[in-house]
Amino acid sequence: MNASVSDAGAPGTLYVVSAPSGAGKSSLVNALIKRLPFVYLSISHTTRPNRPGETDGEHYHFVDTDDFLAMVERGEFLEHAKVFDNYYGTSQVWVQSQLDQGHDVILEIDWQGAQQIRRQMPETQGIFIMPPSRQALQERLEKRAQDSADVIARRMKDATSEMSHYHEYDYVVVNDDFYKALDELCSIFIAHRLRLEKQQMRFGGLFEHLLNG
Ligand code: 5GP
Repeated sequence: MNASVSDAGAPGTLYVVSAPSGAGKSSLVNALIKRLPFVYLSISHTTRPNRPGETDGEHYHFVDTDDFLAMVERGEFLEHAKVFDNYYGTSQVWVQSQLDQGHDVILEIDWQGAQQIRRQMPETQGIFIMPPSRQALQERLEKRAQDSADVIARRMKDATSEMSHYHEYDYVVVNDDFYKALDELCSIFIAHRLRLEKQQMRFGGLFEHLLNG
């Protein structure tokens, strides 16, 4: 990685990444994190039961409803929402500590959470991931063997409602070819780190020296 985009010295940027279920968001985000060492993924708390293959602390922090509501009371969430009858929330302390260390942070949250975050932290960058067609979306949902047919039908309906919010975001990536979509996603993060004000924080001393001889 080029030092000019990976050096600390400037606070990181918070990103919200939303997509309908089945658009390939998690696969893209996981590949992005392997490629860009300065990007960290927030692990949400949820009251949803874990699906086969999901590990506590890796995919989500799985908690019961009483514990979740107690955390809400204590103001420990940057945002929280009820999605598909379950609660989901983002830890405020963890996110802020990552940003302070110069790391970019991704929140994989739905449009409701994205709106809450934008109100609190207007400098947040929003990225929406779209599937290439309704048919592709349906096929991707059907491949998730752990969900039953009526869950899939409901999720198709919910997917349409999620997609209706795409225009509230700063960037849109259409996930047709996975590696093309991944390149596009990475380019957003790299370009943002090169913005003038961030580079001045990282390289202010160098720029002064270059100008003053
Ligand atoms: P799933 O149960 O399929 O993992 O996620 C269902 C939905 O909840 C997805 O749209 C996902 O983006 C959203 N979600 C996951 N974590 C959070 C969170 O911390 N906050 C909010 N608002 N939504 C979340």
